[in-house]
Amino acid sequence: MEVPFHRAYTTDREKELVAEAIDSGWITMGPKTILFEEKFKEYCGAKYAVSMNSATAALHLALKAIGIKENEEVIIPTNTFISTAEVVTYFNAIPVLCDIDYKTHNIDPEKIESLITSKTRTIIPVHFGGQICDMDEINTIAKKYNLKVIEDAAHCLPGFYKGRNVGTLSDITCFSFYATKTLATGEGGMATTENEDYSRSMKINRLHGISRDAWDRYTANGSWYYEVVDNGNKYNTTDINAALGIAQLEKLELMHEKRKAIAGKYDRAFAEKMEMLTLKTDRVSSYHLYVIKVNNRNELIELLKKEGISASVHFIPVHMHPYYRERYMYRREDYPVANRVFERSISLPIYPGMSEEQVNYVTEKVLQHAR
Ligand SMILES: *Cc1c(COP(=O)(O)O)cnc(C)c1O
Repeated sequence: MEVPFHRAYTTDREKELVAEAIDSGWITMGPKTILFEEKFKEYCGAKYAVSMNSATAALHLALKAIGIKENEEVIIPTNTFISTAEVVTYFNAIPVLCDIDYKTHNIDPEKIESLITSKTRTIIPVHFGGQICDMDEINTIAKKYNLKVIEDAAHCLPGFYKGRNVGTLSDITCFSFYATKTLATGEGGMATTENEDYSRSMKINRLHGISRDAWDRYTANGSWYYEVVDNGNKYNTTDINAALGIAQLEKLELMHEKRKAIAGKYDRAFAEKMEMLTLKTDRVSSYHLYVIKVNNRNELIELLKKEGISASVHFIPVHMHPYYRERYMYRREDYPVANRVFERSISLPIYPGMSEEQVNYVTEKVLQHAR
């Protein structure tokens, strides 16, 4: 049996909305993009939603919106995808790495305070695998030291924290719609915020720093005139992409239920036999990743591959990547938990279209080969 690591969950609805976008004659950012933003912010209960072409772009413009400066410090977990660190380097600011919690793989709030200096501006917690970080603790620390909080919620849609929706828990929240994420448009991202100035800044900078969305320029109520008021980027999304996003958002709850059911099956099969992530009871995960920790991680990946099962690893910690290690002189010994987690972690396939047979097959082979 073949079990890929991921497969996008799409139906005719995606094709229908994409066809509408194509047939409209306006295929880049336009009415569908605006509609997607409207629906997205409604879903999150956020005041503003700014779509972009990736979460990396959203994180970049979020840092720009809060006014990050050269040599300022941004605290991020070392266990993240490189985007979280990369965007900090765009400003010649410094990614300060924090170790993680062994049970959740999220940033350890107890280790944040000792990293704060007079140059610290921001904390970027990453909701690993879809479980929201300890946001109350993180926001309390941020308030005490007057720091901004930007969430990397690339894994976390939907996500609920003490009854609240992800997207409203900090200054700016950044989502990813990359092909493997829980809402997938191929490439795409979104930033939500309650702050009008941040929203305006991100809207301007996603399109060259132009003072007003350029798609408006070509409509009947638009005009040819525009002004460039900042050194922006080309980070806008397209109506084709937004069409996918709207269709995916419509089935987000269904997809979430399916992921949850698969996670439940894994949980029951692995109980007492495998080391799984701890899910806290005051928050709801998106179940983006299903991670177990084993003693033969590298071997297990190869053995599963021979059985037709693709597994993955999330993540190679930032402090291990040559560019970052050399530029910022990170020391491996400063991140003992992340090191141990990295050596032992394996992410198993979990996606809405997985069949019961596939889930059973994966559990059987994992139980057979894991040590
Ligand atoms: C996928 C991912 C990103 C980047 O998302 P893109 O939309 O591909 O830019 C950022 N952070 C984390 C934790 C991710 O997993």
